[in-house]
Amino acid sequence: MRVKFWGVRGSLPCPGTDHAVYGGNTSCVEIQCGEETIIFDAGSGLRPCGDQLATSNLYSANIFLSHYHHDHIMGFPFFKPAYDSEFSLKVRGPKPQGMRSINDALHAYLSGPFFPVGIDQVMPHVQFETLDPSEVTKIGDVSVSSKSLNHPGGALGYRVQSGPLSVCYITDLEHTPGEVDQSLIRFIRGTDLLIYDSTYTDEEFPAYCGWGHSTWQEAVRLGNAGDAKQIAIFHHDPHHNDRLMSNVEKKAKALCSRCIVTRDGMELTLLGT
Ligand SMILES: [Zn+2]
Ligand SMILES: [Zn+2]
Repeated sequence: MRVKFWGVRGSLPCPGTDHAVYGGNTSCVEIQCGEETIIFDAGSGLRPCGDQLATSNLYSANIFLSHYHHDHIMGFPFFKPAYDSEFSLKVRGPKPQGMRSINDALHAYLSGPFFPVGIDQVMPHVQFETLDPSEVTKIGDVSVSSKSLNHPGGALGYRVQSGPLSVCYITDLEHTPGEVDQSLIRFIRGTDLLIYDSTYTDEEFPAYCGWGHSTWQEAVRLGNAGDAKQIAIFHHDPHHNDRLMSNVEKKAKALCSRCIVTRDGMELTLLGT
């Protein structure tokens, strides 16, 4: 299983020299399991991901959206394979708050006054599916299960399992300080890689209650409680420049050697034990 981080930022893309090391694209993680391509979220990192897929010998992909906040969908209309009728693309996501389906949410986003062209007009062959959190999606030998997360408007966390290997993609969510969520521990138990919403530091967190995010220290607490083999700090705050992120990286590695602070373009290969 190969994992590539195309966008590791939360909330807003932040290009510029202050963010050159850790990167400025918003949430997008590509997972290759044998023949299957699974992509979590369609943030601005989906654009370079699509550019690479468009030049590869792969002709299908499955995008799973955690939710519809703009940092998780803004890259979708810039995903080149979506415009290729030979490319099989299926996009799945939760039922949006106040709407019936994933189609309603993406049609609302990709239409006036927010966008110049509509989905049906430019990508009529793309398939959409609204997910129920209780269902498990099978893609070849890969299974993807989901879990509702505590986030304004709702969000889904995912676990992709291929044979003995698994990756958990858990963003965006707000934790309750001092209380590690037991159902979340069960969901991520024993995973090879926990990718977790680490927008804030524990010190910053009290000022942002209600914004729906968590901290890198909580990533470590959850990863330890659930025996995650690696813990990936993800969805960095746009205000966290390279200097601050490098400090987070030093502290995180000192606290737990299984921590990784993700960067745009980072690739991991999971081999199992
Ligand atoms: Zn987000
Ligand atoms: Zn969000």
